[in-house]
Amino acid sequence: MAVEGVKGEGLRKTAGRARVLVINAGSSSVKVSLFEVGEDLLPSSVWEGNGEPGEPLETVIAGMDRAGIGAVGHRIVHGGDVFRESVRITPEVRAAIARFGELAPEHNRLEVAMIEAAARIFGPEMPQVAAFDTAFHGTLAPEAYVYPGPYEWLDRGIRRYGFHGISHQYVSGRAAEILGGPRRMITCHLGNGCSLAAIRDGRSVDTTMGYTPLDGLMMGTRSGSVDPGILIHLMRNRGHSVEDLDRMLNRESGLKGVSGISGDMRQVIAAMKRGDERARLAFDIYVGRLASGIAGLVPELGGLEALVFTAGVGENSAEVRAAACGRLEWLGVKIDPAKNDGAKNDGAKIDGAKNDAPEGDREISGADSRVRVLVVHTKEQWQIAKECCRILQTTRER
Ligand code: ADP
Repeated sequence: MAVEGVKGEGLRKTAGRARVLVINAGSSSVKVSLFEVGEDLLPSSVWEGNGEPGEPLETVIAGMDRAGIGAVGHRIVHGGDVFRESVRITPEVRAAIARFGELAPEHNRLEVAMIEAAARIFGPEMPQVAAFDTAFHGTLAPEAYVYPGPYEWLDRGIRRYGFHGISHQYVSGRAAEILGGPRRMITCHLGNGCSLAAIRDGRSVDTTMGYTPLDGLMMGTRSGSVDPGILIHLMRNRGHSVEDLDRMLNRESGLKGVSGISGDMRQVIAAMKRGDERARLAFDIYVGRLASGIAGLVPELGGLEALVFTAGVGENSAEVRAAACGRLEWLGVKIDPAKNDGAKNDGAKIDGAKNDAPEGDREISGADSRVRVLVVHTKEQWQIAKECCRILQTTRER
């Protein structure tokens, strides 16, 4: 099915200025950010709010000045194989997003509710844009997205989609800007959910999450890849239901499952430092899988020029970066311990990008490293605001 954006009036402006509201209805929180868009179409943040999952939009934005809003952008986790890029939301687009609810049950339902809430609050004429977490990986070749299962899976849409695309796109673009455009890089999004993207010439060529966000790396509470035979065994011989498996794999695995302490890397590292053996094991599995995941993407890229760490763990944990990079020395990865340990805003600060608060983005590789290693602060909300401007600008010019 082809669902296209519509011709519209573009980004609404009041006295030459426009404000874009970005809504990110995640499974653990609702983040709302208000941006003001300059003449150069670059947004800068003017207000931020947070709410509980499922909290009505009206209460999340209760303290926000609603004047001058010209567009609303939404982060949508699953765009299926329909959406390869951001689109203006029409009734057809909204219906398609609701249909993908089956693929991302924790997310798309909340996202559709936010689209409806925004139409209610700001009126049906308010331009709304969907930015998909799967879209950036729309450039994967069949070799990367077809699973080696029965071929009919593919006809049923069962294929690798990949997620965290908004973050991988922003972070790889920012790294290219900082380094002057390396052709082959891997971006590591390490938050509660974790994924890698292999990026050649600015396009995603492979990624570790798959049909769902459960595949690939070990995460906070998600297992990442495990032998699927385990699931058959648990159902056939141990009487576990589908709901049990869903709960175990999504909420009782990963750092939390192995350590028995928490899915939060800070608590796992603190326990490890106190001598807790299961915390040590959880940490070792996490960095081992991270390093082998990175190494596993190198053949597809034909080499590696840059490695980029982002999101909660990637931006803040010098321990995780040091341990993963230590396992990749044979690949020519060498980090400078002082730069790696430096507080978030220290180190080789890089100026340049015209964007909102780029401070903290820094290079942490040693002078003799064959691979340049960066820490980049991900800005998904900003990227969505930028997408809104781009989409509404193009629809207006058509
Ligand atoms: P999300 O994926 O939900 O957007 P984040 O990107 O904010 O989440 O990442 C959240 C995770 O980041 C937390 O669970 C925590 O494990 C980790 N984190 C945050 N700060 C630190 C830190 N200083 N050291 C290690 N891990 C951290």
